[in-house]
Amino acid sequence: MQDELILTIELIPRSSWDNNLRSALTPWQWHKLCKYFYESVNHTCEICGAIKGEEFSRMYCHEVWEYNEDTKIQKLVRLEVLCFKCHAVKHFGLSEALDWIDEKTLIKHFININGVNKKFFHGYYEDCFEVWRKRNNIDWIVDVGDIESKYADVIMYYRDKRKLLFERVSEANNKDPKIKRKELFEMFKGERGIHEIVAEVKRESKLRRKQLSE
Ligand SMILES: [Zn+2]
Repeated sequence: MQDELILTIELIPRSSWDNNLRSALTPWQWHKLCKYFYESVNHTCEICGAIKGEEFSRMYCHEVWEYNEDTKIQKLVRLEVLCFKCHAVKHFGLSEALDWIDEKTLIKHFININGVNKKFFHGYYEDCFEVWRKRNNIDWIVDVGDIESKYADVIMYYRDKRKLLFERVSEANNKDPKIKRKELFEMFKGERGIHEIVAEVKRESKLRRKQLSE
């Protein structure tokens, strides 16, 4: 029965809280990736079909994970676009803890979407928390996969790599503070996100010069 559910509860083990694709990216990159996904489904919830602007105002990019108890690997399977209610059901524990929405509304949504009854929900809810408690005993190795090459056209690059590139551009800029943006673009040609990084380096160096002259 659980395999046939349209809307499931997906509780994230404690050790992986805040360790996910979202945290591996800068806020700007995450926003950009989400936007790409929202547009790809015409701002429609992939589970219940609710449309942004009609039934809710904000969409969510939900990270779907697969857990392997033997290898202790928590693997990102895909990203799913969800409406507020479906997203809140997925993270039922968090919704309850943070009081996102009243529990009755969530249960009703779960029952409606899955075509089950209240009794089923309560049994399923207990099972989910039982699995969650077991998974909490494992220190999960989080694997977000090769999202970078998969979504290269959305300008993806990881936080660490971006930091490194930022340092290289800063170094070049410090050597010759008068170097033009165009020259920096040329110097780092082909590097993903270079326009954004050069803009940031130039902004910072301008700020530094201003502070020095004060
Ligand atoms: Zn939905």
